[in-house]
Amino acid sequence: MSVTIDLSGKTALVMGVANARSLGWAIAEQLLKAGCHVGFSYQGERLKGELDKLTKDWPRTWTQQADATSEEDMDALFARVGQEFGRLDVLVHSIAYAPRAAMDGRFIDTTPDDWNTALSVSAYSLVAAARRAEPLMSRGASIVSLTYHASQQVVPKYNVMGVAKAALEAATRYLAADLGDREIRVNTISAGPMRTIAARSIPNFIGLYDKGARNAAFGRNATSEEVGKLALFLLSDLGTGVTGQTVYVDAGLSIMTVKEEQ
Ligand code: NAD
Repeated sequence: MSVTIDLSGKTALVMGVANARSLGWAIAEQLLKAGCHVGFSYQGERLKGELDKLTKDWPRTWTQQADATSEEDMDALFARVGQEFGRLDVLVHSIAYAPRAAMDGRFIDTTPDDWNTALSVSAYSLVAAARRAEPLMSRGASIVSLTYHASQQVVPKYNVMGVAKAALEAATRYLAADLGDREIRVNTISAGPMRTIAARSIPNFIGLYDKGARNAAFGRNATSEEVGKLALFLLSDLGTGVTGQTVYVDAGLSIMTVKEEQ
């Protein structure tokens, strides 16, 4: 049986595409192929060129700079969404950052500044975006973000980012409750390790990636395309009834302790 997902006439904002490897781009590609109109926000001007290259073959896309921690940038971004689309059906939050120093040492040494930065960029920004999206959204609209299993179990060096992901997952539930009376859905996708720019800032990420491939039930890591397909499900009418959830796409990594070597 084949299911075609048609999002023509729908509108989306994707926040956090840095390059073709970004999970935000993997999701955007699925939305674009389904016929959705997509606007993109990027953190700083140095990322604009890359995004322009990615979107050049997709007519009716638009881009706008917005640092997720800037109230002015966020206000301007959602004002632009209103001007371009008049409403918003889909919001994708694919943003995370923690200072390298906070991931290099022991968690116990996390400074207040690094804690605040990591939680503000990686978790509060979802709340800030959802609040601005709400007036543009109606029944059936859907929000997704990206999380990682270090929110649930200790992953060496992930440190304050694990705490930020736990906050993001809890925020997902509280936002889903707030927006539930209008059946606006809020979910977060817990992806297995993927080779992206953000991942490169995690010390020994390659070791983590290789270990993931060995230990996952599938004997490989999940792919960014698989993240995109799960997002498409959650963002389309196939996902009605699903809200407040952390949904895993990790080729069965998080269910394993250590896989027995054959
Ligand atoms: P990425 O580097 O491609 O994307 C991260 C994005 O966050 C970038 O576009 C960056 O510009 C943006 N960003 C950082 N600070 C920002 C700010 N202040 N304002 C606006 N944007 C800001 O890497 P990615 O791996 O695709 O990350 C996307 C999401 O996926 C993140 O939430 C990440 O934690 C999550 N995730 C990644 C993995 C992985 O292994 N790569 C696994 C699970 C979850």
